[in-house]
Amino acid sequence: MHFNGVDIGTLPDKFFNRIRGRDISMVFQNPMTSLNPVMRVGKQIGENLRLHTTIASKEVREASVNCLLQVGMPNPECYLDCYPHQLSGGMRQRVVIAMALSARPKLLIADEPTTALDVTVQAEILERFHTMQIEFDMAIILVTHNLAIAANHTDEVAVMYGGKIVEYAPTSILFSRMLHPYTRALMNAIPRLDTAVDEPFKLIEGNPPDLANPSLGCGFANRCPYASDICHRTAPPLVGCKNNNGHRFACFFPLDPEKE
Ligand code: SF4
Repeated sequence: MHFNGVDIGTLPDKFFNRIRGRDISMVFQNPMTSLNPVMRVGKQIGENLRLHTTIASKEVREASVNCLLQVGMPNPECYLDCYPHQLSGGMRQRVVIAMALSARPKLLIADEPTTALDVTVQAEILERFHTMQIEFDMAIILVTHNLAIAANHTDEVAVMYGGKIVEYAPTSILFSRMLHPYTRALMNAIPRLDTAVDEPFKLIEGNPPDLANPSLGCGFANRCPYASDICHRTAPPLVGCKNNNGHRFACFFPLDPEKE
């Protein structure tokens, strides 16, 4: 696990406490469970500012207001003294994002940050991520199950299955030339408006692998229509495409994009 050229996986906890919340921040999926329900939101943002910035105590309240303004909170002064349950879902998620960005991190990990929100708020929040990414010169790892969000809001995509990366590529390449059967199956599973009403959904049959008892072979083998003997015996390595375009895949029998 490398961050800023340093292998942080080998460093002691003390080091993590220095970068957590300051250099690396996180937005979780459900703001109701990631905010402290018995603490006013202004205090929660202020706590982050006190811990990770050099802002003087008497300026923390004003800085908290600015953090909320940056994430599009209307009249933020009115909300600083509210408890999380007094805010709507969209407002709560704005507070969580304001907290995560308050120390201007270099990396933001956003884990399904808009799943609990309606599509209008979702679009606005994602647009704000984009604006703040440019403003703060910040990298974002966006974890999502929504391929439309991945297609529209990322530069590169890593498709994961059973805890492993099975396909990785610049976004435009991935969505125009999918090579891994799981990525293709995910795409095919998205309902389309032009599908005939009597056509069944294209589900991915079977169940995800049991990670407590991992198999020797490809994790997708039990669900893959192209699986052969070798797939059940050996795990395919993540290899690059011949044309060296940054596209990598872990499959013995990659799809032919011309035929798909
Ligand atoms: S390695 Fe085999 S089982 Fe795994 S995705 Fe490729 S074809 Fe399917």
